[in-house]
Amino acid sequence: MLSAECCHSLRHFSFTLLPVNAEIIAVGSELLTPFRMDTNSLFLTEQINQLGVEVVFKSVIGDDLQRLVAAAQHALFRSDIVIFSGGLGPTEDDLTREAVAEALGVALQRDESVLAAIEQRFASRGWKMSPNNAKQADVLDGAVVLPNPNGTAPGQWMSGKFDGRERIVILLPGPPHELKPLFEAECRERLRLKLPPAFLATRVLKVAMLGESQVDARVAPIYKRFGEVQTTILAGQGEIQLHFRSRAGTLDEAQARVDEAADAVEEELDDAVFSRNGESLEQIVGYWLQMRNATLAVAESCTGGMLGERITSVSGSSRYFVGGAIVYSNAAKTDLAGVPADMVERHGAVSREVAAALAEGIRYRCESTFGVGITGVAGPTGGTAEKPVGLVFHALASDGGTEVIERNFPGDRKRIRRFATTLALDMVRKKLM
Ligand code: AMP
Ligand code: MG
Repeated sequence: MLSAECCHSLRHFSFTLLPVNAEIIAVGSELLTPFRMDTNSLFLTEQINQLGVEVVFKSVIGDDLQRLVAAAQHALFRSDIVIFSGGLGPTEDDLTREAVAEALGVALQRDESVLAAIEQRFASRGWKMSPNNAKQADVLDGAVVLPNPNGTAPGQWMSGKFDGRERIVILLPGPPHELKPLFEAECRERLRLKLPPAFLATRVLKVAMLGESQVDARVAPIYKRFGEVQTTILAGQGEIQLHFRSRAGTLDEAQARVDEAADAVEEELDDAVFSRNGESLEQIVGYWLQMRNATLAVAESCTGGMLGERITSVSGSSRYFVGGAIVYSNAAKTDLAGVPADMVERHGAVSREVAAALAEGIRYRCESTFGVGITGVAGPTGGTAEKPVGLVFHALASDGGTEVIERNFPGDRKRIRRFATTLALDMVRKKLM
């Protein structure tokens, strides 16, 4: 139990033992519906990580007193820092204050200066405060009130011993535009002063067109050597991200550990790694095109402009991207990219030959250093035994000739199209490196 007495004597404690862990509890029945998502915990996790503290549990609890009390008790038992978001409103279903008071075994006291501030907030808009707003002035005995300039419910900060363990409990209002500035203004520095100096360094490596298990099989033996570095593999959209994180007493030390692990993994994966600091593939391709003083044009069939969209999503892409054509019909392939009509007739629109002719034709017409052609079957209809859904030809034409890569991508239309643009971008990247 957190008594007023021990609160007083412990107001100046700091955590001395590493590591300090945090837990976030998002309160609100609406967060358990498909209509509203808990985003506050994402913001809070980022902030907490920046202080060198890991978030080890996150939960979403509906507006129910007994469930909230149970969740609060659990959290106080197992985590050093417990942050509640939401449930500080004026209505009957806002129960965070009551639940935390019960879990900590402390009373709630109505704070007259907080009440006056809430009344003043209403008065300044020419409104009268309704009586149920008064409970927003209820403060946990021993807590510090954290002013909330963007709303009526202030936050609360409580630190002390709970069952003999040092704990920090923070209550924050739910609306993100209130929670964020309040955390930044009132919590970040307060937390930092309590924590042992710890710095978190991160690195992200990105890999294109390799499977997750393929990457994992190659790199797992390597990152097992770096016990102090936490590694996560994220896969999606034809790209694998390897996240490295490490905590240490100085930033240099944390960064050195992360760099050592990331460098070893990069060496293993070699040129499959397209990005070392989080840049996107389209950014990297743009960077290399500029470095080489080269330009690019595209002729897209099954990707329908997605490749052009990705390339031009990068600011400054006009310096290296000329343009191109969406050559969806056979006639467009001929009219816009100069693919001979009889070639389409002979080999079919989805063929190695047509992909190459698209790349060469668009390169010639746009007078660019490189030309890319993409043609394939994105599905779900239109596949045949010979040319199944997912079959895509990617061509890259340059001074040195034209290369074509044929792939059978798994997945639905969206994934196949995304994969095709990623592979085409990666062909350009490898050509430039
Ligand atoms: P409350 O403090 O519970 O009255 O929350 C007020 C409003 O803040 C809710 O209706 C939501 O719109 C928003 N909100 C509450 N919790 C979250 C959360 N974890 N993430 C994003 N928005 C939230
Ligand atoms: Mg709520």
